[in-house]
Amino acid sequence: MPAPEMFNLDGRVAVVTGGNGGIGRGIALGLAAAGAAVAVLARSQEKNEAILGELRALGGAPSIALKLDVTDRATLAPAMGEVEHKLGPVDILINNAGIALAGGVLKVDAASWDRVIETNLNSCFLLSQIAARSMAPRRCGKIINIASEYSHFGNPILPSYAASKGGLVQLTKSMAVELAPHNIQVNALVPGWIESDLTAPMIGRPFYDQVVKRTPAGRFGRPEECAGAAVFLASRASDFVTGAAVVVDGGYAIR
Ligand code: NDP
Repeated sequence: MPAPEMFNLDGRVAVVTGGNGGIGRGIALGLAAAGAAVAVLARSQEKNEAILGELRALGGAPSIALKLDVTDRATLAPAMGEVEHKLGPVDILINNAGIALAGGVLKVDAASWDRVIETNLNSCFLLSQIAARSMAPRRCGKIINIASEYSHFGNPILPSYAASKGGLVQLTKSMAVELAPHNIQVNALVPGWIESDLTAPMIGRPFYDQVVKRTPAGRFGRPEECAGAAVFLASRASDFVTGAAVVVDGGYAIR
């Protein structure tokens, strides 16, 4: 389906961290279908090659996939530099890479806590800083942070995840205020329960059925169902939207 002009991303360069699987893959393909040149940054070479094949099969703008661990701070600026060298200055940053490690506050160890916060929150700050410093002089940019229902809810076995995602929404709002004068919009995309490797362990468990029952749409979402909101937030259609948390959850949070 051709994208209406206001959603068209022709000539835009997008970075999607963790774009080789799950929600990130869905978003990467959606941005590419809307015309963007997409760079996927994630750890698995095998999965990177697979998404690169899918992106190239769309036949649009060039795309690349680089091996990157977002917790390896020293490699973030060189990776963003490589994207700029190969595709051009980054216009759209999707901070999607994320993990969840179980362990309530009585059990969780500091190393596990640090790993989740570094992956889900610190890397988003660091990559956003690199991207925003390039976007500001060009007076153009979109930063989209993939948050969670646990940005708002508590979770007894995922305190580090909930803290990281809560912090990400606050980071989103603060960056939105700071960067608005530079014409950079910063928003959070809040997926509900989406089928992915992250949620696959829930299948067959009572909690899976509870989620489906509570969700007005009566099912889990599919990763590609997050792409429409991401394209909106990456496009001119959202130029007056900043600091928002756009929920894509089949109605889970309203019940
Ligand atoms: P998946 O586990 O399916 O995908 C996670 C992606 O992140 C993978 O592509 C993985 O690639 C990448 N990744 C993980 N750690 C790193 C790292 N250190 N450096 C670079 N890339 C990394 O999860 P989802 O698609 O479900 O989740 C994507 C985002 O959406 C996460 O931020 C998650 O918290 C959020 N979310 C998910 C929901 C859901 O129901 N699925 C609900 C709400 C939010 P690789 O291993 O190759 O690095």
